Amino acid sequence: TKHFPVRKRGRELLSRTVRSVRAVEDVSLRLHRGRVTALVGESGSGKSSVARLLAQLHLQTSGSVKLYGREVDAKGGRKFRAYSKRVQMIFQDPFASLNPVHTVRYHLTRALKIHGRPGKTPQELEEALHDLLTRVQLTPPERYVDKFPHELSGGQRQRVAIARALGADPEALLADEPVSMLDVSIRLGVLNLLSDLKDRLRLAILYITHDIASARYFADETYVMYAGRVVEGGDSESVTQRPAHPYTQLLIDSAPDPDRPAAEEKDGGTGEPPSLIDPPPGCRFHPRCPHAMKVCSEQVPPRFDVGEGHFAACWLYGEER
Ligand code: SF4
Ligand code: MG
Repeated sequence: TKHFPVRKRGRELLSRTVRSVRAVEDVSLRLHRGRVTALVGESGSGKSSVARLLAQLHLQTSGSVKLYGREVDAKGGRKFRAYSKRVQMIFQDPFASLNPVHTVRYHLTRALKIHGRPGKTPQELEEALHDLLTRVQLTPPERYVDKFPHELSGGQRQRVAIARALGADPEALLADEPVSMLDVSIRLGVLNLLSDLKDRLRLAILYITHDIASARYFADETYVMYAGRVVEGGDSESVTQRPAHPYTQLLIDSAPDPDRPAAEEKDGGTGEPPSLIDPPPGCRFHPRCPHAMKVCSEQVPPRFDVGEGHFAACWLYGEER
């Protein structure tokens, strides 16, 4: 759970109540080595905050982050540095995450040095750089190593950002919308690269996206977030082909489908996600839900099993219905 305090303004300064944005509420998920886990949701659903919690760039309001069952202590000094090396983030905008005045060589050398892997001789360093570039399919490496970010395409820049993350020799990659700013034509190449690295390096990958269709293609497990909560999760095929939660159904119906004429597309559904300062009680989706019942506005639905480890947090699947 992560709540961000809201800064008080004007008259609020006098009041005792502290308001907060309840960005992440009771989210529980598990990543596995050698597997991709997708976290799908609209912007503002809290999915980036979840990634930042897992990287411990934000500290949770309550709950814990564990690695192989051991709780991570962000104040744990050396131990914490070891954690942050094992869990690397990849951001949406590869241009913003690379320093424009430095070359690829600088970025990758720095990553290797921070993580104590630059090799002993200049030649070993050069080999390590070439190895990283080859891993992300920027070959031949000599062609890329002395380039500046502006001399590369968006896809190549994102590959450099991935190579930099690999410089730490991580076990998990937290990829926050890694392809959404790239040209549609090159997205698949970058996703395939991540998939390939996952297999070869047995990485656990968290794939954050608003594109549920790509989750089906790319992820083993898929979790769907709405307004700070996980509302559905399970095997990607099952979640995307047999969505149980009304919100996931809406998400799939409103996604553009190349096989369906535009006129048949439903518009983005009914209404907007709620404010997270004062979210609706009970099921946070109830003001927009076509199936809402009385219990929905009163009690938060727990996770109900809908088969084969696939769950939905929705009263439609509860006893109380
Ligand atoms: Fe709709 Fe109720 Fe299910 Fe929420 S719990 S999605 S309001 S039916
Ligand atoms: Mg985001």
